[in-house]
Amino acid sequence: MDRPRFVFDSAEAEQMAKQSGRTLLQFLPSLVKSAQAVARPPISKYHVGAVGIGSSGRIFFGVNLEFPGLPLNQSVHAEQFLITNLSLNAEPRLKYIAVSAAPCGHCRQFLQELRCAPDVKILITSSDDEKENKINNNCNDEFTPLSDFLPHRFGPDDLLPKDVPLLLEPHRNGLSFCPDLCSVKSDCGEEDLKYAALDAANMSHAPYSGCPSGVALVDVEGKIYKGSYMESAAYNPSLPPVQAALVAYVASGGGGGYERIVGAVVVEKADAVIKQEHTARLLLQCISPKCEIQVFQCEKAI
Ligand SMILES: [Zn+2]
Repeated sequence: MDRPRFVFDSAEAEQMAKQSGRTLLQFLPSLVKSAQAVARPPISKYHVGAVGIGSSGRIFFGVNLEFPGLPLNQSVHAEQFLITNLSLNAEPRLKYIAVSAAPCGHCRQFLQELRCAPDVKILITSSDDEKENKINNNCNDEFTPLSDFLPHRFGPDDLLPKDVPLLLEPHRNGLSFCPDLCSVKSDCGEEDLKYAALDAANMSHAPYSGCPSGVALVDVEGKIYKGSYMESAAYNPSLPPVQAALVAYVASGGGGGYERIVGAVVVEKADAVIKQEHTARLLLQCISPKCEIQVFQCEKAI
């Protein structure tokens, strides 16, 4: 079986569009079904696919993830997966999204964290015949700006100075491990995992709480996946770092189950007002029972 793909480079995207006789924007909605096919919603069985184009011209997939045995607020929505996928691939801007169902309020709010969020264009590809015909007839005039989906926005502009980096923009949080950790000896593999989690914490977007954090996971083959905490101005749609790391696992882990995750490191600030450790343990103990979880504290370098 082909390994599922979640990123297509710009030349490949242009080539695929050309082969279908469409422009890239006309082609985008036709990929939504492929994204839906690799969603993981074992509770609702409602497969959501979101396909985006970034400023580089690359195409990114997003899908919904649900976790049986856990509260529903642990779920990841397709649009959140999509943003995380862009972040993992250092894509600074999201320009267009084609999505299988109308974005929920939670996602409309989460998207506000992007620079020029009101200008992100969205197309909903519901499966009714009328829409199918329009897609097949190459109509591309149905992209609607996010500002139409969420007027009277509340977002970073309400709380942050203009020069603060927004979600997807480069972050350098200047964190390092607390000094007492330097004397702790661990083997090479563990060091790699620990520093991957620190790296993720350093890229975390947490301007509201000042509590950046990161998680790194390792699978049975020793492959490492890292995820950065991403915060929302409205607090509640924030995406915990363990979810972000699970997005990385789904997007580049070859399609395996979560039970293949055998190790995790959580890195967060020693004096953090909000903590990720307990939620990460709750989630991973449920979906990855063999996973050994370690937590390390960090601090901002002086
Ligand atoms: Zn949503």
